[in-house]
Amino acid sequence: MTYFLGIVLLYFMFQHYLVLLALFLFYGLAGCLFQPQMTEVGSDTLSEIEEEFPIDGFGYASDIGVLERDKVRANQSLYELLDEMGISQQEIWQVSIELKQRLGFRFLKQNQIYYRYRKHNNFDDVSYAPVLILMESNVRYIKIDLSDGILVQASAKPTAVRIRQVEGVIESSLYESLVSQDHSTGVGIELNKIFAWQIDFFRLYRGDNYRAIYEEFISEGEVVGVGRVLAAEFVHQNSLYKAFYYEDDQQQGYYDSEGNGIQKALLKAPFRYNQRISSSFNYSRFHPLLKQSIPHTGTDYAAPLGTPVIAVGDGEIIESKFKGANGNIVQIQHNSIYRTAYLHLDGFGPNIKKGVQVKQGQVIGYVGRTGRVTGVHLHYTLYENNVPVNSVEVDLPSQKSLTESASEAFNLEVQKYSFFLGQSRIVSATNNDSYDVEKNS
Ligand SMILES: [Zn+2]
Repeated sequence: MTYFLGIVLLYFMFQHYLVLLALFLFYGLAGCLFQPQMTEVGSDTLSEIEEEFPIDGFGYASDIGVLERDKVRANQSLYELLDEMGISQQEIWQVSIELKQRLGFRFLKQNQIYYRYRKHNNFDDVSYAPVLILMESNVRYIKIDLSDGILVQASAKPTAVRIRQVEGVIESSLYESLVSQDHSTGVGIELNKIFAWQIDFFRLYRGDNYRAIYEEFISEGEVVGVGRVLAAEFVHQNSLYKAFYYEDDQQQGYYDSEGNGIQKALLKAPFRYNQRISSSFNYSRFHPLLKQSIPHTGTDYAAPLGTPVIAVGDGEIIESKFKGANGNIVQIQHNSIYRTAYLHLDGFGPNIKKGVQVKQGQVIGYVGRTGRVTGVHLHYTLYENNVPVNSVEVDLPSQKSLTESASEAFNLEVQKYSFFLGQSRIVSATNNDSYDVEKNS
């Protein structure tokens, strides 16, 4: 009930193609980007509620301050803007790194619209809530929120979701196939995530084909993003892979038609036994040797010299050598999305060489102090699409199968989506005769 104002799900038959149209009105992108703070009020507690604040289009209640709209002046920097708001230099620096690394954002543009929240009480001394909204288009924006840690997020104004269906044959690339049919490349990114453990998306074959049903976000008539893929089939080298999205209060993820999880888990840490973290993932750690603040994009484990280091997942060794400040390093490519790196190793595990396939749990090396280090430790980094992410906090796919109690609900979903997927036909990737006609009524 938190996300949706109302749900209208309409199915249309259009010619011999099934058209699915779902319109969800809600606060925020599929409810996952921000959640409105709504209070459930029972009739007996109504009198206790003093004030209710409406939530604005950016997900903030009006008690945060008065929303002010402004334009970026010539040569005005993000630093200037945030500094004016009383944000510390350290935080501004972290924000700019996050913006660059996560969103590829570097500079403000002249006349770019931005919003801030001026606090109510200070009319003579203007102060702002630590929230900055940078508009990127009429509906897309970047939210920078420093009220509780550092949040940097790409988002879009409240929007509608429609369900679309796509299918295609790979002629040159999956993206080309999607774009030629007027579907977003975001669908390809989602399919890659879903099937990453089964299909190498860098080595798709001509003739591989796919079908998918997915959510598309629309705001003020503009397509602003791709949500979840709800169901998909992928034929890769004549093998058929299926994925169905399912969630309930106990589990969520992608499953095959039997309810087996199709995304393999990576271990949370590269050890058989729990090891103490001596330095966490941190974008602004002060480096004791270099005497300056440099990002620590990994997790350090203070494990004893010689402790076996294990592969967090199946994959291919793509590096195993001595490499300067890294010392002895091993890197494993798990699939087209995930890669892991293990640094400062004392030595390598048996037969750990570039090009070798390893299994989850296999010993790939031993904790050491090689390279630029102050002491014995393992520096471990998890990369997601070549960007280091905090392995301790990141949500990794689970390989768990569905619980028995979910099977009935899941089977219904499978039947429903299998039916819809079956309605479509494989078309040539160059055929622009898109069948997923959106019909509004
Ligand atoms: Zn480290």
